[in-house]
Amino acid sequence: MQHERIAENVYFFQSELYAQVTAGVITGPDMAVVIDTLALPEETRQMRRFIERELRVPVRYVINTHYHADHSWGNCFFPEATIIAHTKCHEFLDTRGRASLEREKKDNAALRESDIALPSVTFDEGQMDLQVGKKNLSLFPFPGHSADSIAVLVEEDRILFCGDTFMPLPVLADGDINDTTASLKKLPKLGLENLVPGHGEIVLRGEIDAAVKGNLDYLSKITKAVRGAARRRYPLDVLETVHVEDCGKSRVLIAGMAEQLHQRNMVALFYQLYGKLPEGSATDD
Ligand SMILES: [Zn+2]
Repeated sequence: MQHERIAENVYFFQSELYAQVTAGVITGPDMAVVIDTLALPEETRQMRRFIERELRVPVRYVINTHYHADHSWGNCFFPEATIIAHTKCHEFLDTRGRASLEREKKDNAALRESDIALPSVTFDEGQMDLQVGKKNLSLFPFPGHSADSIAVLVEEDRILFCGDTFMPLPVLADGDINDTTASLKKLPKLGLENLVPGHGEIVLRGEIDAAVKGNLDYLSKITKAVRGAARRRYPLDVLETVHVEDCGKSRVLIAGMAEQLHQRNMVALFYQLYGKLPEGSATDD
């Protein structure tokens, strides 16, 4: 796990074990707020130790940007903290989250000590404020990657922790392309110093407009590819020949998972547009 100080009392963590997933910490004089946990217990514990030993404050709140495993399954390692999230995050963790953790525990010994810890403070619309020392955190819905996605703005520093709705490559498999587009379009107007994606590197002020445009271009390219494939007999065969580079993104993104995520994006988008999965010749009788 790597960590970096972004501004006074604001820290960024990035996993070295899984998909460059990120987390954040904002500290006040007597407590810390954690934004997302890391994918594996080992790294979440490492982050907790760093906060307690180096920053010397206890964690009072954990905010989950959304319910996916790599952002929320470490909640249980902060048993004294209040967990905050979108109302739907509570619902999804309690249903899909519990079921998938039970499945994962069978294959992954590292997760056997994990448990689902549900948010006890939730909101669905508007914004929620949380004061940490002299800083105000503003939490608001930021849907796209998933229906429960939220973002957290550190108002004084103009740093936005935006979860997975913005990352180096959009990921739609559990999301919605229209919500993603609408959320992305809000980013350039926020006057940000730093944009912290749910995976990957921090985006600096001067790079934000281009990064957002890159993701919007990617979304329009995959939309075109999916529409074109839908006119053919075996759309899946066609989609398999459209690589992530053809849509303007590098395959090394997100710890080399970009091509795989991209293929899933196109299948998910096909489903969103046509209400069925794309057919391939291999599945035809
Ligand atoms: Zn996610």
